[in-house]
Amino acid sequence: MDIKASLVSIVGKERVSNSNEELFFYSRDPGAQHPRTVDYVVMPQSVEEVQKIVILANKAKIPVTPMGGGFTLSALVVPNKGGIVLDMKGMDHIIEVNERSRYAVVEAGVSQAALKAHLEKNYPHLQHSTPEAPPTVTVVGNALIQGHGHLSPRYGVNSEMINGMEVVLPTGEVCKIGSCSVSPYWFTRGPLPDLSGLFIGWFGTTGVVTKLSLRLYPKPKFREVLAFSTDDVDLIPEAIFGVTQLDLLEDFFLIMQEKPDWMNHVFFVVILSGHFEDEFELKKRIHKNFFQKFNGGGKIQFVEDLHPALRKRFLDVPPLAALAADFRKGGGFEYTGAILPIDAIPEAWKKGIEIAHKYGMLCSYVHQVLMGPSVMFGFNYSFNRADEEDVEKTRKALDESNRLTFDLGGMVWKGEVGAQRLAMERMDPNTADLIKKVKGLLDPNGIMNPGNWEKDEIEKATP
Ligand SMILES: Cc1cc2nc3c(=O)[nH]c(=O)nc-3n(C[C@H](O)[C@H](O)[C@H](O)COP(=O)(O)OP(=O)(O)OC[C@H]3O[C@@H](n4cnc5c(N)ncnc54)[C@H](O)[C@@H]3O)c2cc1C
Repeated sequence: MDIKASLVSIVGKERVSNSNEELFFYSRDPGAQHPRTVDYVVMPQSVEEVQKIVILANKAKIPVTPMGGGFTLSALVVPNKGGIVLDMKGMDHIIEVNERSRYAVVEAGVSQAALKAHLEKNYPHLQHSTPEAPPTVTVVGNALIQGHGHLSPRYGVNSEMINGMEVVLPTGEVCKIGSCSVSPYWFTRGPLPDLSGLFIGWFGTTGVVTKLSLRLYPKPKFREVLAFSTDDVDLIPEAIFGVTQLDLLEDFFLIMQEKPDWMNHVFFVVILSGHFEDEFELKKRIHKNFFQKFNGGGKIQFVEDLHPALRKRFLDVPPLAALAADFRKGGGFEYTGAILPIDAIPEAWKKGIEIAHKYGMLCSYVHQVLMGPSVMFGFNYSFNRADEEDVEKTRKALDESNRLTFDLGGMVWKGEVGAQRLAMERMDPNTADLIKKVKGLLDPNGIMNPGNWEKDEIEKATP
């Protein structure tokens, strides 16, 4: 079968490529994983085109890897077994904003920046939970990998904000999930059997999401950042627990950088917001009081003189909190996104510094506190993309922080194939078996992004 000619007959010749120059870009992502082979890239513009491509892939038994912005850094959109990359950026319509029910229905290629700009222009009193990722990443890709945005400490991770989806199943049928399966409104996942879990966290191995409904939230009139600092890492769990018990904040993260020296402390960064001035002022007073009196007083200091440039960065939506201590020539940046229970933070903090130093890097941390509370603990690494030795060191550092994460009772978020293997090695065997059965049922020919979440295959695929 002439795959290229078949793809051209579906989407037209402008939207298919197998030229080496283009495949070069699709065969790698900006992270530290090894490049892998891609045979074709195709950019559909409609759900019917996606259906036809999936049906073709079944006939030809060729893998299909869905791609949004391609920015996980863990190469989740770089095929493990070659085949077609299905670049969804050509489907970029914001289909609906339902103001009263506070949700937006977007196609799979809509970027975070496009949704943000659309809301700012047309619904300035509404907002969505925006990740601190590059603005070109997609709303759908982020929600499907259980990403988190600036409202996650208040409302939960972004996948919890999904109201419904339209999905092209691996066998080509189009299926609706949530209220949109029985109603014109995409306003809720229940009360129905919640099938969204068949597509969230699966890395595109169970279908291609073509539309998604995401919850929107009221945008407050007042926002301010308060920063507090300490040098006692062991205080962190108790402080996080106490602040989240107050139940009053919008966003909450911890940062540290070894350089410059003044950043080499534990900083608690709390974003507060309010619709009324009185409410807002009260929230500020309560948080200052909390830290001042914390643990008998004097252990955590209020940062009186937060630099205006930092204040602006923290108050931006999304905040620009990820500061790397040693930006390197070659611009590489990677992290293990460790979802950790708060009690594990002190040990993770100390061991993460040791890992960074072992591989010749300075340590920098940004951890977002999530609902629960747990934390998205970023073990960050900077490296020179042009220096293979440096990239290899980063892979080793990632592997160590992945293992540490599991040893501390956590899980690796959006893990590359190696991290998935670590998860599956530790997973209850019946759970691993259920994953295999569900995948086999939905995707009998094994065409969807194969190599991910596959216990048997993962070892072969890991370089
Ligand atoms: C500097 C930096 C900061 C970051 N900060 C954050 C942050 O604060 N919060 C956060 O959540 N993330 C963050 N990220 C990680 C990542 O960039 C985001 O989560 C991003 O939103 C992922 O979306 P994407 O469009 O790039 O997904 P992609 O990488 O394109 O896809 C992710 C996965 O979903 C699958 N997929 C994509 N689209 C579909 C579809 N339509 N149907 C089925 N499967 C699909 C892909 O196959 C892949 O497995 C950051 C990344 C960087 C580089």
